[in-house]
Amino acid sequence: MTTNLPRLRAFVSDIATLLDATAEEASILEAGKTLLADLVAHDDWLPDAFAQPNPERYSQHLLHCDSRQRFSIVSFVWGPGQSTPVHDHTVWGLVGVLRGAEISQAFQQDGERLEPHGPPHRLEPGQVEAVSPTIGDIHQVSNAFDDRVSISIHVYGANIGAVRRATYDAAGRPKPFISGYSNTVLPNLWDASKSL
Ligand code: FE
Repeated sequence: MTTNLPRLRAFVSDIATLLDATAEEASILEAGKTLLADLVAHDDWLPDAFAQPNPERYSQHLLHCDSRQRFSIVSFVWGPGQSTPVHDHTVWGLVGVLRGAEISQAFQQDGERLEPHGPPHRLEPGQVEAVSPTIGDIHQVSNAFDDRVSISIHVYGANIGAVRRATYDAAGRPKPFISGYSNTVLPNLWDASKSL
């Protein structure tokens, strides 16, 4: 199967156009949700190199970072049973499931403590959810499956791998965290010679 990179290239362009048009978070999340839902409704574009699980821990592959670091696009690959620590983002983010399914548990600060906010919910392929300091920024995400890989595509309002943020321990204490990325090379979106 050929990899439909023009689909990802068009998504990059659409997000940049959206951010040129508005800086208002609610508008970005609303329009961005529609764009990401359309991207993850099609599973023909993610190169295999960015869909490989690591048996040790979940992977976060940078697919694209805006030249002004206004946004980044990341593929999260969950091996069977893998999950993130409880963490925040500090910027807006959109999460869309491409393959498998994920369980997301939101948390909120209650004084010194961190409490689950609502029940865990399951995200199926094609579904998109949003996070941000305004609408709820702390969560834990897990692969819904213990026998197969799940993959979600995330868009954030910054170069997320370089953002100073936090993970939280069982007592709700924040620990400084800069996630980085799992990959050292990016997909080449820009050779349009075969897809003009
Ligand atoms: Fe997250």
